Amino acid sequence: MLINLSDVLSEQHKPIDVTVDFEMEQFQAKSETFPIIEKLPVHVVISHIKGKELRIHAETKVTVVIPCDRCLSDVKQEFSLDFTKYVDLAVSDAELKEGFDESNFIDGYHLDVDKMLYNEILVGWPTKVLCSEDCKGICSVCGQNLNEGACACEDTGLDPRMSVVRDLFKNFKEV
Ligand SMILES: [Zn+2]
Ligand SMILES: [Zn+2]
Repeated sequence: MLINLSDVLSEQHKPIDVTVDFEMEQFQAKSETFPIIEKLPVHVVISHIKGKELRIHAETKVTVVIPCDRCLSDVKQEFSLDFTKYVDLAVSDAELKEGFDESNFIDGYHLDVDKMLYNEILVGWPTKVLCSEDCKGICSVCGQNLNEGACACEDTGLDPRMSVVRDLFKNFKEV
C-alpha cells in the first residue's frame, strides 16, 4: 500500500492520519518464505517537522509462521510494531543526520507501507524460535518428532551420517 505524501509536503503541511492494509502475504527472508497469517490494519500518522523532514508513526500487529529451530513444527510469532521514524527527504540515506532514519521506503511522494513494515519485522526477527522451551526436537536418524513420542531408533547418540557407514559394514558382512 502506498501513501501519497503530497498533502504533508505541500505548503500547508497537512498531517496525514490513515489506516491502511499491510498487503504482504508472506515474508521473504534470504532464501526462505514465511506465511503471514494474521495482520491488523496499519495506523500511520505522518507530520511535518521542517523543510523536508517528516515524523512517521506506525502501529500494527503481524503474525508470521516460523518453523521451530529444533522440530520444524509451525510456531506463530507475533510482531507488535509501534515505532516512530524521523526522515529527511532532502538528503540521501548516505548523508543522514544524527537522529534520522533511512528512508528507503519512500520513493518521491509515496511512502511504501509494506516496505517500511518489512524492515521493522526484519529488525525484530528472533534469533531463536522454539515451539516450547523444552522442545525435544526430531530424531536425527528417522526424523520422528520426539515431542509426539519416542521412536524405535537406538539412542546411539551418533552422528546420523554414521548410520550410512554402519549400513555399509552390515552389507559387507552379508556378502
Ligand atoms: Zn519444536
Ligand atoms: Zn528415530
